[in-house]
Amino acid sequence: MTTPLQVILAQPRGFCAGVVRAIDIVEKAIERYSAPVYVRHEIVHNRHVVDKLRRKGAVFVEDLTEIPPGAVTIFSAHGVARSVQEEARLRELPVLDATCPLVTKVHIQGRRYAKSGRTIVLIGHAGHVEVIGTMGQVDAPMHLVSTPEEVEALSIPVDTPIAYVTQTTLSVDDTRGVIMALHARFADVEGPDVSEICYATQNRQTAVRDLARVSDLLIVVGAANSSNSNRLREIGAEMGIPSYLVDDGDSVDPVWLDGVAAVGITAGASAPDELVDSVIAALRLLRPVRVSQLDGVEENVEFSLPAELRMPHATVAAAE
Ligand code: SF4
Repeated sequence: MTTPLQVILAQPRGFCAGVVRAIDIVEKAIERYSAPVYVRHEIVHNRHVVDKLRRKGAVFVEDLTEIPPGAVTIFSAHGVARSVQEEARLRELPVLDATCPLVTKVHIQGRRYAKSGRTIVLIGHAGHVEVIGTMGQVDAPMHLVSTPEEVEALSIPVDTPIAYVTQTTLSVDDTRGVIMALHARFADVEGPDVSEICYATQNRQTAVRDLARVSDLLIVVGAANSSNSNRLREIGAEMGIPSYLVDDGDSVDPVWLDGVAAVGITAGASAPDELVDSVIAALRLLRPVRVSQLDGVEENVEFSLPAELRMPHATVAAAE
């Protein structure tokens, strides 16, 4: 008899509170104000989620100019620059803001540090939509770095008071080297407690490390443009096991399973559990499987919806 393939699920994995809230906002907006509602950028970085909402009546755009006058407009979980908020205000678009409260917290930290006269360093990845939003939320020049080498290359005098803020999808472990490099190079450095930046990023990364220790192969369910999903895959590779990022079960390659006794599966913060199920189903077609879940943190974080959606019959006001 064929020995069953051990399928071990990470705990926690998949949706975080910011993603649940963002999807809820779009669904409730459609229920309340009728389709179409317009969402600037993918509400979260997952094609399956976006397609499902599109079928319900959400229209995804990259630019506010694509939104008709007066149409309900939703900002994605990644946040937007002030220039986008200002454009919505000038166009009097009724806006529901699905920016994750933890991203908003980073914006507030950045503004506070800038106000105190510090030069701001943003630890994050160039071009990521959250980074673009954060850089556009602080009315002061920001220096973007993602590695200790980039800290070395900063053209800032060493006696300049510095403050750092970080992209939420980087964990304590990701940022540690950069923060150490900042402290090594500059005399006066301030920054937030990075363990409090995003509980979900930290928990998923801790869980995938535990998972990699007991797996021969790691499958991360998530989109190619999902920063936190890519990071989970990288951690698996750093831990020395073959690690793959897949959209869903269709992307599983049978060759990966050669000589493998235990497959670890996790999912990025924007990947629904049904996609994890589709990966398990794909594995089941190849070998008998036995599914278990590692012990891990039980998350019970919830973010409240915008007031307009909490109150019955409220209308969305034009952006102010
Ligand atoms: Fe918010 Fe963290 Fe989820 Fe990003 S990963 S949406 S910051 S809870």
